Amino acid sequence: MAGEPQADCLFCKIVAGEVPATLVRESETTVAFRDINPQAPTHVLVIPRAHHPDAASVAAADPQLAADILREAGAVAADEHIDDSGYRIVLNTGAGAGQTVFHVHAHVLGGRGLNWPPG
Ligand code: C5P
Repeated sequence: MAGEPQADCLFCKIVAGEVPATLVRESETTVAFRDINPQAPTHVLVIPRAHHPDAASVAAADPQLAADILREAGAVAADEHIDDSGYRIVLNTGAGAGQTVFHVHAHVLGGRGLNWPPG
């Protein structure tokens, strides 16, 4: 069922505290933690506690939860003081776009210049 924890999902295990992560924020519905392989001085992932595979599926199943992810991404940027200089929220969707963990996550990247288009 949509939102149920998946036994083989790495990010469900982070939500459950079974895999360690450096948490920076938590809300009732989301968890934010530092990316283990940072691509910028600030690189934080915001994930929902509930399991949804990607951005489109969480938006379809639970629009409020999709909004929670974006709100928390903005809060991370404010906490990290990257909101004045500009930051990027990235939701890789599908293996062809570089998604490797199929539990939706918003990358919050900042603290350096960010080129466009992304690679
Ligand atoms: O968008 P994508 O699916 O590629 O992002 C997954 C991200 O999860 C990667 O940036 C990877 O470094 C991060 N990761 C992590 N902690 C883990 C496993 C992966 O921060 N234990």
